[in-house]
Amino acid sequence: MKTRLLNKRIRRVERVRKFGQDVEIFITSAEARKGIVAYVDLPTRVVCPLCSGSDRDCHVCRGVGRIASTTMLEVTLPPPIKDGAKLEFDLLAARPDRLTSFTMNTLRVKVSMMGTGKTRT
Ligand SMILES: [Zn+2]
Repeated sequence: MKTRLLNKRIRRVERVRKFGQDVEIFITSAEARKGIVAYVDLPTRVVCPLCSGSDRDCHVCRGVGRIASTTMLEVTLPPPIKDGAKLEFDLLAARPDRLTSFTMNTLRVKVSMMGTGKTRT
């Protein structure tokens, strides 16, 4: 029987709220016990694919050498996750590739528990 899908991890979290440079991720109590993987869209700068930053008259980057982009960052929250937990992720280490860099060095994540239940586990 493989009809039952056991989603240990959320592949897409729609419950990510951004405020300034920080994000808040909303989780359920079940996710707090299992841990989740959330995806956060972050602004990045990519080395210009046309001129690599060598052409001041480049029409793609307008001579800046880099263009603005966004990258989906995979944020792993290992269990157990506490309500109100604050985590920091080093974006310098999380650089997607040589040509791409995040516009900030650290991502701060705050975790908020959803739901109204006050049951303690
Ligand atoms: Zn260019």
